[in-house]
This record gives sequence, C-alpha cells and structure tokens, in this order.
Amino acid sequence: MGGLGSGGHNVRNRGAVETHRRLSANSMAKHGVFSEGWSGRWGWTGSDGETTSWIWVVGGRDEIRLDFKFRENGGEWQPVDQTVTLTRVPKPFGKDQPYFFCPRCGCRAMHLYGSQQHFRCRTCSGLVHASSRERHSDRASRQARKIRRRLGAELGMDDPAFRPKHMRQTTYEKLHTRLEQKEAESWDDTLLLLQRLQKLEGRISTRRSRTASTGSRKAAFW
Ligand SMILES: [Zn+2]
Repeated sequence: MGGLGSGGHNVRNRGAVETHRRLSANSMAKHGVFSEGWSGRWGWTGSDGETTSWIWVVGGRDEIRLDFKFRENGGEWQPVDQTVTLTRVPKPFGKDQPYFFCPRCGCRAMHLYGSQQHFRCRTCSGLVHASSRERHSDRASRQARKIRRRLGAELGMDDPAFRPKHMRQTTYEKLHTRLEQKEAESWDDTLLLLQRLQKLEGRISTRRSRTASTGSRKAAFW
C-alpha cells in the first residue's frame, strides 16, 4: 500500500524534528486536527517567525499519526511513524478537554514532547527536572504561574486551566491565550538550555570515543 512514509519522496516530505518540540492538544484541537479527514503539516516557528521544523500529521477523532524524521545532536536522520491515541474529558464549562495518551507510559497528557525520537509525555521525555529547574529563574514562567493562580489552576505547565465560574468568557480567553504564550516562551528557554547541554555532552563523548562526527552535514531538504 502506498501512503505516507512508504516511498522515497515521502521521506523527503515528512518534515523533521531535530530538537525537543511540543505538541499541544489544545492547539491541535483548535486547528481541527482531531477530526476525521484532517491531514497536513504541523510546524514550529523560531523567534524570527520562520518555520524551523515541522511534521506531517494525519488527524483523527480517536488517534492521530505523526510522520517525520528525527535526529539527535547532528546524527543520522531516522524516519519515525508514530500513532498517538486521544481521549476527551468533559470540562466543567464549555467543550471537552482533549488529551493525548502518552505512547510510552499511557498517562493522560495535554502536551507531548518530541525527544529521543518519539513524542512522549514530559516525564517520559526525561525533561521534568530540567524544565522545573529552569522555570524558577525564568520570567515567562513566573508570569504564566501568575495567570494560573488567577484562574485557580494547578501551577504545572501540563495541567489544564479552566475558566473559573465568576470569570467572563472574554477575560478567560484573553488570559488563556497569554498563558499559552508565556508557557511556550518559557519552554523555548528551557529547550535552549537543553540543546546547549546536549551539544556539550555530544562534544565530550565525541572526544572520549575519538570518533569523527559523521552527522554534522546539514540536512538537504529545507
Ligand atoms: Zn509518559
């Protein structure tokens, strides 16, 4: 059978994830990804607004498929084809809250992180420690926590933030948008730190094993 990931040109077109990237169930739901028949690119932009990486996504109500290439520390690109199951929990107000099931531990997660080749929850991605440590010194996450307190939500980045009973919908939407922005900013900072650490680790292990790096060539497809 043909289709995504089965042919050479698909490998060229599947997009790529070089660093940790975050998938947000809310954001995907908002863009219609969780409806049957949706398929398209899902990308991330850098601070200059340019798309830095993207993956191919086949949407769906009960599960979605992620199709991309991944590499770590400038290593070899590897094709990945991952299926992620979805679930929905009724919110106290408004629509259902969509969640992913982490493909590794099966926990319910609002965000999945593309690291170590597959998208997983933050714990399974091994990012919990680094991100919480960074958060304490990070301005954006302080601002995010302030909004979370105002909404009466849990302070963790992956916890849902519902509209409090007394709050007007427009106020809530404004706050929630800002919350997502601030958490994304804070997350980006953490990623920079992680990338720096990984590069450092890469250099150390390369030096130790005295092997030449073969993966430093830039990928040719964007
Ligand atoms: Zn997990």
